[in-house]
Amino acid sequence: MSIVLGAIADDFTGATDLANNLVRGGMRCIQMIGVPDTALTPEQTEALKGVDAVVVALKSRSCPVDDAVTDSLAALDWLKAQGARQVFFKYCSTFDSTDRGNIGPVSDALLERLRATETARLGATQTVMVPAFPVNGRTVYQGHLFVGDRLLNDSGMEHHPLTPMGDADLVRVLSRQTPHRVGLVPRPVLARGVAATRAQLGALNDQGIRHVICDTLDEGDLEVLAEAVAEMSLVTGGSGLGQDLPAQYRRLGWLGEVTEPGRLAPASGAALVLSGSCSRATLGQVDHFLATHPGFALDSLALAKSDDHLESALAFARGKLADGGPVLVYASAEPQRVKAAQQTLGTERAGRLVEEALGTLASTLVAEGVGRLIVAGGESSGAVVSALGIRQLRIGEQIDPGVPWTQAPLPGREVPLSLALKSGNFGGEAFFTRAFEVLPTAGREDHEPS
Ligand code: ADP
Repeated sequence: MSIVLGAIADDFTGATDLANNLVRGGMRCIQMIGVPDTALTPEQTEALKGVDAVVVALKSRSCPVDDAVTDSLAALDWLKAQGARQVFFKYCSTFDSTDRGNIGPVSDALLERLRATETARLGATQTVMVPAFPVNGRTVYQGHLFVGDRLLNDSGMEHHPLTPMGDADLVRVLSRQTPHRVGLVPRPVLARGVAATRAQLGALNDQGIRHVICDTLDEGDLEVLAEAVAEMSLVTGGSGLGQDLPAQYRRLGWLGEVTEPGRLAPASGAALVLSGSCSRATLGQVDHFLATHPGFALDSLALAKSDDHLESALAFARGKLADGGPVLVYASAEPQRVKAAQQTLGTERAGRLVEEALGTLASTLVAEGVGRLIVAGGESSGAVVSALGIRQLRIGEQIDPGVPWTQAPLPGREVPLSLALKSGNFGGEAFFTRAFEVLPTAGREDHEPS
């Protein structure tokens, strides 16, 4: 088998966001969690059959530069071994990085490796940076990144704890991360169309400029860019570009028409929601769900005292799951309650206790028959996925923007586990109930497409 697009994402939810857009663009897509370090299992090999795109999710956004480069190159080698025609380095639409990296050093390393192996191939000497996602308010003009109507450095991102963005000029930002010169494709060139954009890229390439920041004001600009760069060995950017690339692969004859790229096997098994997110949107979703469904509140202080609290949660969930669910177990709490627990236990210990409890609940209850699982919270999702030993997810239909249903093959299970991993602020108020309604189940294959 041979895939068309191989993507390397610098974090987990960013990977899902891109994978979701690729499916919406018409590609069958799998997300790998980390680079497969050993030969694929028979389940993994089977799942990769008939797939058009693979997104490898790394944790390379704010780790040391050397680790980010090593992991990204390992992902590149693995994706090229799967036959990827184009490689996409995915980062956040707010260009989250520091003066040391990791966007510049990773792009440089990927380009060097591709140059060494694909010297004859068009575009192996240059790549583009397209972070913009206009429908989400991320635009770029004269190389300056805007979040809504604010410049990046005035958007709140200047206070980010790990990757504060104090400069909106991406040419300047990237120039601090790479020893090479950085170029720009400005809006007036994009407005003249694909040929003018290609000519500008070519002229910059002739000057030896390998990194090119691209302006993007609207969907039309993204379409022009997608057509101009579809044959480059490496592209980089946010998930917005991912939405427009599949149409270009079809134009090039690399990708056929896929009728239902997000089609999953009919789901079966009881329905469970685990929530470790305390974000505003999740708190609203928890309240909405509890108005009509059963739930158990996990208390981190009680978890710290003894195992009894977790045993009570398990007993409660088992009782409700006997009828198929859905049931909710949640640590989600108002900020003052979280703060009080953090003051007593320490922030890290409080978080770890909750994440470990969610992991135990997931692995125990999935082993006992849960087949449809929603997890709310980015870190919480990571904890559950690792407790379940999941290494790959087939991406299904979108539930709400940025959150698709996925399926994971589990050893010894005929039907894969259906899993929706929701980062804190995503999803409408009725997310927890709506998600189960739109998931096709065995014996009920009709569903409402989003
Ligand atoms: P989000 O996507 O909303 O940021 P995360 O799961 O990434 O959600 O992060 C939430 C963090 O808060 C997790 O580490 C979780 O363990 C922790 N947490 C959740 N509930 C509580 C609680 N009641 N007390 C203390 N920490 C909590």
